[in-house]
Amino acid sequence: MTKFDLHSHSTYSDGVLRPDELVRRAARRGVSILALTDHDETSGLADARGHAEKMGVELVNGVEISVTWCGHTLHVVGLHIDPAQAELASGLESLRQGRRDRAEQIAGELDKAGVVGSLAGARAHVTNPELVGRTHFARFLAERGYARNLQGVFKKFLVNGKPGHVPHRWAGLEQAVGWIRASGGMAVLAHPGRYKLEEPQRCGMFAAFKDAGGEAIEVVTGSHTPDQYQSYARYAQRYGLLASTGSDFHGPGESYRDLGDLPELPGGCTPVWTAW
Ligand code: AMP
Ligand code: MN
Ligand code: MN
Ligand code: MN
Repeated sequence: MTKFDLHSHSTYSDGVLRPDELVRRAARRGVSILALTDHDETSGLADARGHAEKMGVELVNGVEISVTWCGHTLHVVGLHIDPAQAELASGLESLRQGRRDRAEQIAGELDKAGVVGSLAGARAHVTNPELVGRTHFARFLAERGYARNLQGVFKKFLVNGKPGHVPHRWAGLEQAVGWIRASGGMAVLAHPGRYKLEEPQRCGMFAAFKDAGGEAIEVVTGSHTPDQYQSYARYAQRYGLLASTGSDFHGPGESYRDLGDLPELPGGCTPVWTAW
């Protein structure tokens, strides 16, 4: 049986495994087709490719782009993108620059809350100087005992209304989908169940995503409950969107789901790979 895992992170963004370790773990866990989808960054793909070939895993070139839509942060996964495509590459570079500026602001906010040394502390966890994220700050905060684990940190820090929160403007939805499509890729709305939206706005999000040229949504993801697999399968059908599946693995012991640890897509969905 072909096992797909179409959402994962490496040390090129906020994952804890290098691409070679990630691919080896995927192979060991029976994943035959793996997408590496680092946040706003594609430089891990070339690194992953050679290892994937050796280990008999088919690597899908992916990325997870940060988007601001109606004041909410959404994530759009691109699958089968071309990382060398100019528009995509320069768009992602601008997002990474925004992350560097945001990191300094986050550290300033944490300073005000009495948490000192967080920029250096986060940087100690950064594995790609091009890509600083909240996860790196969260690892520092957990290490200092501010919470037991990352989930605990994200309840008390770095989110709206809590110390270390910095509002940020990411790519536009149409922009991100446009970059993905310009590079020959397919746009997939990541973990739609994670966004805190009222029903009409959730429907508006699917409609706007589809209008922008989005083709699929994640139905089975580490961020969804089994009930959500069913409800997002119905949204996919209702909006004529294909269904994707991915663990969103960040590291052993850090993620809800391990690589390949996913149930089949519910009946009635059309899998993304039928369009490849
Ligand atoms: P950023 O893109 O830098 O704003 O960081 C977003 C990342 O933070 C996500 O991709 C997750 O890796 C991590 N994250 C956000 N919320 C949580 C949470 N509640 N528990 C664990 N990790 C989280
Ligand atoms: Mn992440
Ligand atoms: Mn995400
Ligand atoms: Mn992700």
